[in-house]
Amino acid sequence: MKVFGSSGTRGVANDELTPEFVLKIAKAAGTVWRSDRVALARDTRATGDMLADAAASGLASVGADVDRLGVLPTPGAQAYAEREGIPALMITASHNPPEYNGVKLIGDDGIELDIGSLERVEEKFLTEAFDEVRWSETGHSDYIEDAREWYVSQLLDALDRERIADAHLTVALDPGHGAGSLTSPEFFRKLGCEVVTANSQPDGHFPGRNPEPIPENLDDLGRLVEASDADVGIAHDGDADRAIFYDENGEYIEGDATLAALASAQLEPGDAVVSAINVSQRLVDVSRETGSTLELTPIGSTNIITRIRELHDQDVAVPVAGEGNGGIFFPNYRLTRDGAYTAAKFLELLTERRASEVVAPYDGYHNVRTNVPYTTDAEHDALLAAAERKANESKAELNTRDGYRLDFGDAWVLARPSGTEPMVRIYAEARERQRAEELVAEIEDALRTAKASA
Ligand code: MG
Repeated sequence: MKVFGSSGTRGVANDELTPEFVLKIAKAAGTVWRSDRVALARDTRATGDMLADAAASGLASVGADVDRLGVLPTPGAQAYAEREGIPALMITASHNPPEYNGVKLIGDDGIELDIGSLERVEEKFLTEAFDEVRWSETGHSDYIEDAREWYVSQLLDALDRERIADAHLTVALDPGHGAGSLTSPEFFRKLGCEVVTANSQPDGHFPGRNPEPIPENLDDLGRLVEASDADVGIAHDGDADRAIFYDENGEYIEGDATLAALASAQLEPGDAVVSAINVSQRLVDVSRETGSTLELTPIGSTNIITRIRELHDQDVAVPVAGEGNGGIFFPNYRLTRDGAYTAAKFLELLTERRASEVVAPYDGYHNVRTNVPYTTDAEHDALLAAAERKANESKAELNTRDGYRLDFGDAWVLARPSGTEPMVRIYAEARERQRAEELVAEIEDALRTAKASA
């Protein structure tokens, strides 16, 4: 797919991602959907209004009425789409810097479009075979005033409110000026928490921090946890489908440790947990300890959703899935990543233990990574041939869904070509740093030798 990557289409707004481009995407999606009504929402980005107007025009021109939800987290747009049984178009660049924007497409079941549906939209986009209607059949916009309020109330209905309220937790929240600024403060208050906030005014220029919830951007949150004596710090990305945590000491918690802790609390013997090919050893260990199966997909949420659906078709329970970047699925709630819901599930764990204690079992894993760059096709081919040879020689369990991942039980190593840069990335993880370093070095040596003779 050229137009849609693994998580929608994104670019610098008004440069790569123009109103004309979004208008065409909306026409193409509207043509494929053939729905007489489509929902439209956006995050807080400065260009969101402009691009939402373009999307509304495109949808109206192919005959769809548009439910305009305004600023709303992506999972809120998904919940609305599911409730109404209509598709939705979301204007967001998720965690990308302020100058970016993008489009996510959501089906009438509230789930991100699968690869097949995206390919159909892309084909319409490229051929411009749009179903434009006569002037008298063009759509009109309805402004839905209570979308945010309803999204918060359906979240509350899906949770054990009493259990969380009884723990009298103090939550330090950093929605990063994104869409969660308008929903998460109220949500955690209604869950019975004391809420203190940083960067919680919606602002598309993101003056306080960049939208990506990584430690470099979250100094404010660490300090806020300490200053307010909070039990936990919670940060979202720009469209609030992710949640990242700080413990009660103001220390950053690795996303992989959070995922492992949440999975450990959810998984029963015979269940499956789905994650991407670069999954942490932490989740490998949790799946073994809980007697569940770990299913690995190529990187990207679309691949994880596809695998969960396949497992559901085989009547396999998948109570939890996701990646170590804070994007976690609880498929029994909904097949979406929802930062607020994920945070509430983490708060459930805090009703019994402090945050640092919840994640302590998943501390002390070491990640090592390196890159082997290439400049010619011959070098690229030689690197991949060497990686394949090493993988086949090894006695470890091999997974080839996206590159070559070798699982040794106590550690793993993965060699895969970067999707964006001319290099093969090598990752390893183990309880001991030296073990991870050795695993990377062995593959790296083989690759560099092969490249030298290419
Ligand atoms: Mg996001």
